[in-house]
Amino acid sequence: MRVGIIGLGLIGGSLGLDLTVKGYEVIGVSRKPETCVKALQKGVASTSGVEFGLLNNCDIVVIATPIEYIIPTLKSLVNYLSPHTVVTDVGSVKNSIVIPAQEVWSNFVGSHPMAGTANSGIDAVENNLFQGTSCVITPDHHTSLRAIALVEKMWRSVGCKILTTTPEIHDQAVAWISHLPVMISANLIYSCLGEKDKKVREFAQKIASSGFKDTSRIGGGNPELGLMMAKNNKNNILNTLQEYQKNLDIIINNIESDNWQEIQQLLVTTQGKRNDFIDN
Ligand code: NAP
Repeated sequence: MRVGIIGLGLIGGSLGLDLTVKGYEVIGVSRKPETCVKALQKGVASTSGVEFGLLNNCDIVVIATPIEYIIPTLKSLVNYLSPHTVVTDVGSVKNSIVIPAQEVWSNFVGSHPMAGTANSGIDAVENNLFQGTSCVITPDHHTSLRAIALVEKMWRSVGCKILTTTPEIHDQAVAWISHLPVMISANLIYSCLGEKDKKVREFAQKIASSGFKDTSRIGGGNPELGLMMAKNNKNNILNTLQEYQKNLDIIINNIESDNWQEIQQLLVTTQGKRNDFIDN
């Protein structure tokens, strides 16, 4: 299968690496010529350059640019595509992408691989980034079965389990488990930096260990990605932040009032329920 990938950063580049290993022919297109040179050196693609013309006759083209460039990229790309080519994306939001994309190219299926690290760009690419993760796809009743099958086959070949839903449910769910945590984690780092006593702040920085590493990891990630998530999933992220704020106020109240039983109940509940989110 001939797969084109546009945007050779963490997600696009890592996908190219794994697909190349699996024997797919990968054509990589990116914005900067030096990224395309590195992509060839790293084995991300067998052909790479900045021209969309390289992507004619692909079975699938994956748009892996930052979110705000996905639709503009598709609009420029369509003049170079063969009619049979299926286009997918990897954007972390789906509502603002899928309908406009299907209007531009009917052979479009939205995807979102639930994988990532705190790093970005071509130097961040990793083998097996998708192994054992879920990939959400968001086809609708207009989407051809052939397009769905091709996209599923590609993600399965790099180790993803496929989950299918609507763009609306996807965006509400990722607000809870991905976009809200980015804001909470960023606010955690920011709040710690706000400690006014320099001695305390510096000592905290020295002793921060696994707990802080776990809870601050995504707040210390790619700022461009976090901003795009907030802008493009604004209403859902606001809903989750408001719900979070309500619960935080309850925790503050309970601590102020020495309601230790309530605090204990909360921690017992969360200890028992955490696995519902991560054991899947
Ligand atoms: P990234 O590491 O910054 O990679 C994006 C790459 O796209 C950049 O390295 C850049 O390469 C290229 N690019 C930027 N603008 C472009 C344009 N106009 N045309 C062509 N290439 C362009 O970002 P990422 O983390 O891989 O994220 C890419 C997409 O994956 C986003 O839509 C994001 O929502 C989604 N996603 C991210 C994660 C995650 O955890 N990181 C997880 C799932 C999905 P140059 O060097 O050529 O400029």
